[in-house]
Amino acid sequence: MRRKTVNKKVIAFKLILIVLLGAILGTSLFFSAKIETALGIGDKEKISSYADKTQIVEDDLTIHYLDVGQGDCTFICLPDGTNMMIDASLSSKADHIIEYVTALGVTQIDYFILTHSDSDHCGGAKKIFDAFEIKNIYRPFEIAMDASNSTIPYADEKLASYYTSHESEKYSLVTTNVYRNFITAAYGEKYTENGVEKQAKVTVSYDGLKIIANNTDVNFTFEFFAPLIRSTTAFDYESTQTYGYPTKIYDEDREGHKVASGVTKNSCSGVMLLEYKENSFLFTGDATNLVEDDVRDSLTASERARFEKVNVFQAGHHGAETSNSEEFLNLIQPTYVVVSCGLNNKYKHPSEAFVQRLENLSHDVNDYLLRTDKMGDIVFGYSEDGSLLYYASQAGSGNAITVYWWEIALGIFVVVTVVIISVKFTKNVHATTKRVVNKVKKYK
Ligand SMILES: [Zn+2]
Repeated sequence: MRRKTVNKKVIAFKLILIVLLGAILGTSLFFSAKIETALGIGDKEKISSYADKTQIVEDDLTIHYLDVGQGDCTFICLPDGTNMMIDASLSSKADHIIEYVTALGVTQIDYFILTHSDSDHCGGAKKIFDAFEIKNIYRPFEIAMDASNSTIPYADEKLASYYTSHESEKYSLVTTNVYRNFITAAYGEKYTENGVEKQAKVTVSYDGLKIIANNTDVNFTFEFFAPLIRSTTAFDYESTQTYGYPTKIYDEDREGHKVASGVTKNSCSGVMLLEYKENSFLFTGDATNLVEDDVRDSLTASERARFEKVNVFQAGHHGAETSNSEEFLNLIQPTYVVVSCGLNNKYKHPSEAFVQRLENLSHDVNDYLLRTDKMGDIVFGYSEDGSLLYYASQAGSGNAITVYWWEIALGIFVVVTVVIISVKFTKNVHATTKRVVNKVKKYK
């Protein structure tokens, strides 16, 4: 009889403990960001930590890595009040992009940058150009051609003849509908300023090209380091159209094999570094390891120093094996790596080899692999005190967010379990000792 009462009490105690534990864990889920801050998790050797959306200052720099499936689209609100979009993902993702950017209060895009002609980067451009006025367009040097009769549309006809007269062998021809539509839209794009309609300025991106703040209150730089080589002289054409000058075309892979398509579109990608306050953000489009090699080789000592500690690196080519080389990652030593990729994509991006390379880095970056397929839209910004923070739209589904909450939960659970077991064990030891002592007494 007495034994049963004890069991009931123990069961009741355990139940209360489980309910209490559940309540603590449940509540802590809602305050995970606050708990992290209070416990100092994420602040130790890191310059940024997962934040509440409200902790990010709205009119300071914010970088939005949009969740656009297997493609790229990054929207940047620059600290001087201007804004920038890098790539426009697939046509099917344009609605999400337009909705997202509109919600930020944007009607005009100051800088639109297309890294290269692939449809997962330029597919949505036409719809975005229809939805917003674009003031400045930065395009790749790839030349658009008409698929049916191989004639080059007006704008690119001039570009082709310019290249032919300078470097006859060095250009890349593209015949896809999406790229032709982009080129046509770019040269037809108009915007209004002070009630006056103006033609958008189209620039062929090249190494050394810079975008700087339009007022002296803030200081940021956005600079291209590819596709073209530093010694290139830019050609100013009709004052609104500046053409770069391709001095190198990538027609073979890193192992020296000729590529089937003649020139890899990915290797036409721009490589761009954004620097603001103490932080830097690197964008490489789908640039291949060959482009990364050339960028490394082309850097002066001071430029190299700027590449040596990149705070946020948007993984090249969605985390592909043939980009993000060990040598490049060792140079940039990224604190955070953002991968823009589709859930269960057929390319298996990010590749295992790439993730392994991150794990091999001398510092711990792997906890900070932020994936749009797992976390949704990922946003970096600054807190009131000027530290770098990030948040993601699908909070809880990404490693970087849940890991801290589970660490706390697991910690509490383990401590409670250890206490229960040790109390029980001590009681048992006492009982056993008593029995042994009694038995010994008996035999005496
Ligand atoms: Zn791509």
